[in-house]
Amino acid sequence: MESLRLKTFWAALFLAIIILFSVDILIWNSAKPYFINEIKNETNDKLNLAKGILNYDELTKNNSKYLKSFVDKIKTLTGLRTTIIDKNGKILADSDIPLIKNSNLPNNLNLPEIQEALKKNNGLVIRKSKNYNIKLFYYSETLLQNGRIIGFIRVVLPNEFLNNKMRFLTYILVLSNLIILIFIMMWSHFYWKYIEKQFNNFKADINKINNQFTFNLLPTQKYSKFNELAGLINVILEKHRLQLLSKDKDKKQLDRLLNSLNEGVAAFDLSGKLIFNNSNFISILEIEQPTDQKQLIYDWIHFPPIIKDLNEFENNKKKINRRIKYYGNKFIEYNILPMKSFDNVTGFIITVVDVTHLQNLETMRTDFVANVSHEFKTPLTSIKGFAETLLAGNVKDTNTQKKFLEKIGNKTIQLENLVNDLLKLSKIEKREIHQIEKINPVPIINDIISEFQPQAADKGLTIEKQDQMTRKEVYINASKELLHNIISNLLVNAIYYSPNGGKIVFVFYIKENMIHLEIKDQGIGISQKDQNRIFERFYRIDNARSLFSQGSGLGLSIVKNTVEILNGKYGVESKLNKGSNFWIELPLVK
Ligand code: ADP
Repeated sequence: MESLRLKTFWAALFLAIIILFSVDILIWNSAKPYFINEIKNETNDKLNLAKGILNYDELTKNNSKYLKSFVDKIKTLTGLRTTIIDKNGKILADSDIPLIKNSNLPNNLNLPEIQEALKKNNGLVIRKSKNYNIKLFYYSETLLQNGRIIGFIRVVLPNEFLNNKMRFLTYILVLSNLIILIFIMMWSHFYWKYIEKQFNNFKADINKINNQFTFNLLPTQKYSKFNELAGLINVILEKHRLQLLSKDKDKKQLDRLLNSLNEGVAAFDLSGKLIFNNSNFISILEIEQPTDQKQLIYDWIHFPPIIKDLNEFENNKKKINRRIKYYGNKFIEYNILPMKSFDNVTGFIITVVDVTHLQNLETMRTDFVANVSHEFKTPLTSIKGFAETLLAGNVKDTNTQKKFLEKIGNKTIQLENLVNDLLKLSKIEKREIHQIEKINPVPIINDIISEFQPQAADKGLTIEKQDQMTRKEVYINASKELLHNIISNLLVNAIYYSPNGGKIVFVFYIKENMIHLEIKDQGIGISQKDQNRIFERFYRIDNARSLFSQGSGLGLSIVKNTVEILNGKYGVESKLNKGSNFWIELPLVK
């Protein structure tokens, strides 16, 4: 800005000097003839006065004395050398020459001023004086009598007349030039001060916008050129704003897309700097969202297998996939993938999925197979043992033979129960259930209780039904078979895990919007520790096998799964050796 200011200042000054100089020359050149004319007019006025007092008769008489006194008088009055010349060019009197008598002075008729006067009645000539050898003004006029030239009057003016005027003009010009130049300098200075101020305001406005995150436009500028510029910048700003908005929209869409993925995704450049990540990435890996966008992966993720794989990826830039146990009981599966741009690896992407559930299912499946095999193996070994012994013919006693066969029969029932329960459970777990419909559970409950009365009676037990229903017309969404699954398993357990004699109480009533069923026994009870696990598949408390040898260990698991399908609740309260209270609640429907 400063150099521009100096440049324009010098350019303006230079231009002004050239213009002023040209104008000066023009004025100077046109002033000269003007001044000469002015001198001529002034001298003409003076000579008219002189002519007014000239006695022409004395001139015709060629009265030298008179003429000499006349020219002297004129010189005294005007200060100019005055000469009277007769019509033949002979000098009759001259204020600078003593009285002329019969002069033999050279003939003056050929002098240019006389020649001009002869043509135009007056003549002004600037020429070198032969006597003084300096440039002088010679002005002559004709002296007329009755319209005829009788002589000439001539005055000589010093060149100083014109010089003075020209000098004065020069002073005026120099002074005015100086004034103009000072004015131009001052104007240029203040104009630039003004421009500089406007420029600084403009700059401040731009800086303000630059430091803001909002999309403001530049305000109107006082200086019209800056205002034009502000208009153009505003157009660019507006375009930029629209571009950013659409980019922002794209980014938001991408963020939404990435955040709606089940997978955690994060992208990094080759130096390991984070480019972006979705919310699942931090939630699955249970890490903090970095506040610094340039977070390095090594400062962020410390899980050793990932770090090891990253080192490997750094070396060969090849995809890595791994399923591994993360912290706690969590299992994750992650991929490290190269991020490519035109065949060049520019970074890498890590995707991560929480596979704990899958892993648990996998474990469950393998555990289940092991458990089923185990549950099958025990009765099968017994059956095989008894059968082999009988076949060997070593048991001769028919009572013992019968006992063995009964045992084989029992074990077969146990295997049958196991297979039936497994089928039931798999059906429930696969949701292959009978059509669920709105049914009244009370008659079904009554039927099931009646069904189990004989079995209870075999053990000297009574099932005491306590129907505490306040309404008879109640409905639940279920099926007869599913309800049977639940109640029969609970009743069978209550019968098997109770000592002979005593009673089982079956209570049912409406509790809030549920039907509440309770099967209370006075049996062996369940410890607090075991209460948490008895609903697991194949979980049997040690003493259960002796009390209920045909149990499959799946009964309560069937209860749990069925209740869950019916959106109900289940639970147990029990005390060792005092008895257990199994309860379920199923939602009523209108
Ligand atoms: P099981 O075929 O062994 O009865 P369940 O899944 O029905 O299998 O029950 C799991 C275990 O819970 C039983 O083995 C038993 O140890 C315990 N249990 C179930 N019901 C009772 C009860 N009423 N009293 C005491 N223990 C019970």
